[in-house]
Amino acid sequence: MLYPTSSDQPLDAIIVGAGLSGMYQLHTLRDQLNLRVKVLEAAEGVGGTWYHNRYPGARCDSESHSYMFYFSKALVASWDWSERYPQQPEILRYMNHVADFLKLWPDMVFNTRVQSAQFDEPNNLWRVTTSQGEEWRAKYLITAVGCLSSANVPDIPGLDSFAGEWAHTGAWPLDGLDMTGKRVGVVGTGSSGIQAIPVIAEQAAHLTVFQRTANYSIPARNAPLSEDFKQHVKQTADDIRQLMQETPNAHCFRIQPRSAWDVSDVERQAIYQAAWDKGGLQFRATFNDLLRDKEANDTAAEFIKHKIKQVVRDPHTAELLSDIDHPFAAKRPPIDSHYFETYNRDNVSLVDIRRHPILHIDAQGIQTSQAHFPLDVIVFATGFDAMTGSLLRMNITGREGLTLKDAWHAGPRSYLGLQVPGFPNMFTITGPGSPSVLCNLPPQIEQHVNWITDCIAYLHKQGIQQMEADTAASDDWVQQVNDAANETLLPQVRHSWYLGANVPGKPRVFMPYAGGFARYRGICDEVAAQGYKGFLLRA
Ligand code: NAP
Repeated sequence: MLYPTSSDQPLDAIIVGAGLSGMYQLHTLRDQLNLRVKVLEAAEGVGGTWYHNRYPGARCDSESHSYMFYFSKALVASWDWSERYPQQPEILRYMNHVADFLKLWPDMVFNTRVQSAQFDEPNNLWRVTTSQGEEWRAKYLITAVGCLSSANVPDIPGLDSFAGEWAHTGAWPLDGLDMTGKRVGVVGTGSSGIQAIPVIAEQAAHLTVFQRTANYSIPARNAPLSEDFKQHVKQTADDIRQLMQETPNAHCFRIQPRSAWDVSDVERQAIYQAAWDKGGLQFRATFNDLLRDKEANDTAAEFIKHKIKQVVRDPHTAELLSDIDHPFAAKRPPIDSHYFETYNRDNVSLVDIRRHPILHIDAQGIQTSQAHFPLDVIVFATGFDAMTGSLLRMNITGREGLTLKDAWHAGPRSYLGLQVPGFPNMFTITGPGSPSVLCNLPPQIEQHVNWITDCIAYLHKQGIQQMEADTAASDDWVQQVNDAANETLLPQVRHSWYLGANVPGKPRVFMPYAGGFARYRGICDEVAAQGYKGFLLRA
């Protein structure tokens, strides 16, 4: 047995997950604090969500120079992205490069899924059991399981009887899925579906898209990066990092400090047109009230709906695609490469499953309330049990037998998205209650990991054995998360995964902190400066 089991000395920390957050957390605890740490990872390699999301067209919606670590100048200098938005294989190469660069491999254990984690109160230890039949023990349990890692396959009757092949975008087969010359159905038109559909359409004999909710999308305008730009990123790394820390969504662009009503109708259209031409998530940064003022939002929504109708030639299809029932960017806005144009292909058709729902799947294909669609392959681009799914799947039990499932029966409750009352010495990187999915994630990961690292250093220095989120502080934080969301249009979309609405039976609670990354960072820093106010510290 290579690694410590129950008979050996406990570790200082167990980190669950070898995505960006788990890898950086390993580096800081091991190389800065000199702690004994292991990462446990279910997959065969590093990458987290990027390991599993190998679907055709998978690409990051954050611009590549913002989707990387900035904590080390040498690491920044050692890497070049090739495109404005990196594709999944390139991101996975970056993650492997990070593991090489930081020499992380000896302390990561793969093919090892955590099956349970139990707090052993008398010994002040976490006991973690794995799919390999091992038990690991450590003082700290740090979850680095990602926010979008638990694939949500809809429970459609008859899926088992389907004679063709099917896959979920978020759990894509490692050796791919050959769709050449086949009849393919894609269920779902969120970010994943919108990325996959144009690529699948090029391979398939026929592609049928099953749309429940029409969606906005902005052209990504992906392109190769010039050598000049690659150098510019290295030379201005400090500025880029600073900018991402100051913006609400941790992206490399500022939200314009103007209301949609500060300009004339003609100027507003010109601003939207310029943002459309430039492409990317910046479109929502054109005005500062798009997510707060419904009428301001309507101006952006109408612009995009008009574009869809201009692009899509068949009027019925254009109508279905532009019949969008929620404000722009109130659900996470996708960006695309020729998504709407794809519906002009002869081999692509769109089916409205809002009006004519899927009834069941049989051996030959999908049956809606209107027609039967014979298929060879079904792709579920149906999203994730976001933010809480992967945490709850770990069967975590805290003090006095309290399970995380019970603690969160009415929705996730945490302090700052970092700790849960009743679960001492457990930290949740980008957990529910943090800005997480509303942000470009690498800067938020750096911030959380640095905070946790500083915190553990403080605990050791002060001789504190146990740290736990205070219940009252957590309740207050949950209220602040709700208040921040209610200042925006985001909670108004009742079918949003931000609210857990995509998973049957999941409590409807707005999960991420919508008050902005910069504000959140300030709050976390203040809490630390006040001796970790709101946490119970036990000597
Ligand atoms: P999603 O946004 O949750 O979209 C899921 C789609 O499947 C929606 O169209 C949804 O319809 C539909 N759907 C869900 N359950 C269904 C059912 N039972 N029957 C029929 N349709 C169903 O999932 P996603 O596209 O995977 O994206 C999730 C998040 O992952 C994104 O918002 C983004 O944060 C992240 N992501 C990032 C990238 C990137 O940066 N590269 C790429 C992809 C995803 P309704 O809208 O009606 O629920």
